[in-house]
Amino acid sequence: MQLPPIAATTIGSFPRPNWLAQPDRARVIFRLEGDALKEAQDDATALSIHNQEQIGLDLLSDGEQRRTGFINHILAAFEGIDLEHEAVKTIYRRREQPRPVPRVVGKIKRRAPAIVEDLRFAKAQTNRPIKMDVPGPMTVVDSTVDEFYKDEAVMAMDVAAALNEELRDLQAAGCDVLEIDEPAMTRYHEKVFAYGAKALDRCLEGITVPTVVHLCYGYPGGAGQQHEYEYPELLEELMKTKIGGFGVEFARSGYDPAVLSIAKGRIVMFGCIDPSDTPVPQVSKVVERVRAALKYIEPENLWLAPDCGLMTISRELANAATICVACGSVTDRARQSSSRDFGPGRKSRRFSTSL
Ligand SMILES: [Zn+2]
Repeated sequence: MQLPPIAATTIGSFPRPNWLAQPDRARVIFRLEGDALKEAQDDATALSIHNQEQIGLDLLSDGEQRRTGFINHILAAFEGIDLEHEAVKTIYRRREQPRPVPRVVGKIKRRAPAIVEDLRFAKAQTNRPIKMDVPGPMTVVDSTVDEFYKDEAVMAMDVAAALNEELRDLQAAGCDVLEIDEPAMTRYHEKVFAYGAKALDRCLEGITVPTVVHLCYGYPGGAGQQHEYEYPELLEELMKTKIGGFGVEFARSGYDPAVLSIAKGRIVMFGCIDPSDTPVPQVSKVVERVRAALKYIEPENLWLAPDCGLMTISRELANAATICVACGSVTDRARQSSSRDFGPGRKSRRFSTSL
């Protein structure tokens, strides 16, 4: 896989079209069933990929059009999880936020591939590289009620082993980049030290394609911003792992990108737009953020993205945010290549790159 410097991408999820699912729900409710739903999800995936190409993203996702939520689509392929009879968890990522979550009722093992067919379908729609993502072990622990293990570290290692099987199959099926989503890591640094970093490494056994771990504060619109949990000690600990890079949130947090200097040599998927911002900021604002990051990150290792997934915002806003990221990327690449030779960067097909 060859990406241009300052490549444009996303965290992975896009809003579901209104004709596919009911909007404004924490959990997606599809309007169709059976074969008709499968056909609609295929169409929505093809549309999302085509849209991402038109916008000029360099690294695409399948838009996660088939997923009912961030966790359950993957957990549905695991033994030991009861998705039918949920339990209420009160503390969720350190928020007092009662919500129904899956129950862990037995030893976790992967029963069958979860998103390998989703990848194959996506790959058939485009020649551009595809990134697929899965929730990480700490986030699965945080997003379930455990009635079996009674030991988070042991459970996390079983989740990691199951995820590793999935990641190996995705890699074998031609996935270009693998992303592990770990919003729980930003809040529970002590658990990262205790077992989370080790579980992340277990996920990555035998994986040779580029990998990133997404360290965010949750979807836009969540209660509170939680930016009191800062990145430095987290990044320092994760630099000891095999992870290839970090998906980090810098628009909403307003952090100084100087904290990224510790990530030398790894990919930084740099969140440069807050998806809940309306209207979307000017491209010049994105460029300003990127230029601050370029003091610490080599252009070859810098990928631009919105801070987090886009599934909870409108299609219109998601498109506008993604266009802004792509334009910021092309603009900065042009500025970079005028002073240094990074080779030919691909131009956005449709959108002006002038400021
Ligand atoms: Zn996120």
